[in-house]
Amino acid sequence: MTLRLYDTKSRQLKEVASHNGATSMYCCGPTVYRDAHVGNLRTFLLADLISRALTLSGIDVSLVQNITDVGHMSEDFQEDDKILTQAHIEKIDPYEIARKYEENFHKDLSRLNIRKAMVYPKASESIEMMLSMISELIDKKAAYVGNDGSVYFDAHSSQGYGELSGNRLDALKPGHKHEVSEDTAKRFHADWALWKAAGNRTQMIWPSPWGSGFPGWHIECSAMSMELLNSHVDVHVGGIDLRFPHHENERAQSNAITGEESVDVWVHGEHLLFEGRKMSKSSGNVLLLQDVIDRGFDPLALRLCLLENRYRSQMDLTWKSIEAAHELLLRWRGKMSEWAENEPSVKPWEADPEIESAINNDIDTPKILLRLRGIEKSEQGNKRALFLYADQILGLNLDAGIEEKVLTAKMKELLDARSLARSEKRWADSDDLRVQLEGLGLMIKDTPEGQTWN
Ligand code: AMP
Ligand code: ZN
Repeated sequence: MTLRLYDTKSRQLKEVASHNGATSMYCCGPTVYRDAHVGNLRTFLLADLISRALTLSGIDVSLVQNITDVGHMSEDFQEDDKILTQAHIEKIDPYEIARKYEENFHKDLSRLNIRKAMVYPKASESIEMMLSMISELIDKKAAYVGNDGSVYFDAHSSQGYGELSGNRLDALKPGHKHEVSEDTAKRFHADWALWKAAGNRTQMIWPSPWGSGFPGWHIECSAMSMELLNSHVDVHVGGIDLRFPHHENERAQSNAITGEESVDVWVHGEHLLFEGRKMSKSSGNVLLLQDVIDRGFDPLALRLCLLENRYRSQMDLTWKSIEAAHELLLRWRGKMSEWAENEPSVKPWEADPEIESAINNDIDTPKILLRLRGIEKSEQGNKRALFLYADQILGLNLDAGIEEKVLTAKMKELLDARSLARSEKRWADSDDLRVQLEGLGLMIKDTPEGQTWN
């Protein structure tokens, strides 16, 4: 059975191609000026799910994920590079900022069981690659040097511009929020910078045939994907916000270089909201994986929680849903240990047609979880083998068993104190003690029979 994914460009399900048993994938990576929030992680998880699905069907996956450490201009700060702005705020070198958040990014991926990409190229170390692509675009008359020393892509040179996002050039108004407004050097308002002249910027700049400067954000992904994946991407992944202008522009650039459709399937993950609101720094509503762990939840509870929703639907993450996922994770791990005692492990896992069809039908994770709930309740004797099959996609370490944690004296003392506070109806004290217990990694639940913990 072949994996089919929803392709944003053709607006239909498309079979994922493989060539001699291998598929090339590119996933837009993080801009490393801050920690990735759980929304970013949802999109990175999507690439992992696709890659796991292909691997499970015996296909070799070459996944490239870039690290944007230069060139991503901030909308809030208009002309500033996100990394340089953050370096200024934290008063440290921009490269130090980038390396710090890049390290955190890798840590988060590993805690979420997201398998490693083949390579994580950094923009700042791929300047040569970008310069040679920009020169080629100029030679092909798809780009021109502006009178400000910057190089611009000529949007009109791109035949199918707009097919990905639906934003046709003749309908695009000047001053779209992603555009750099002062570019009077551009021939047309929807042209974009491939190379920006340094102006009075002194950090993160490089020499080029057009003077010193730095690369634009869109050219980074074209250069890395075309260079590192042999001029063709079978599956390209990113969040829905990147569809325009980032991916539309990337497609125009890459197609101009290859003279053909450079990406086969464009996959976009919908956004994650947190407690009903868009995650944004300004509204103080950004959730990190570390925050989830600090509340005592298994990081894979977040993974499970995200899997409860189809990647193409907007999802509202809540503390309640994370807690429910944590409990389900523990229950399933407990069941797996129980089943291990009764189920002779003839096979490490056993394929299930329903699960296989859900995977291959556009990664329908809610359906896989529903199937597992059904198997759990059933009387069949191969539950563990089927769960192990599904876990190759789900990546929940369902076979991890439950870590038996003995209560420390401090935990015991606080639990007793809370029990007493509740019996004496001292609710504020009880809440206070709950916070302290949660800080120690315990999850407290109040039931009619009294408090319980795990
Ligand atoms: P950035 O680090 O901002 O460049 O974003 C990294 C990835 O996360 C991109 O693919 C974005 O489209 C994606 N992304 C950003 N915000 C969200 C969100 N709230 N939910 C899901 N994905 C997101
Ligand atoms: Zn990108």
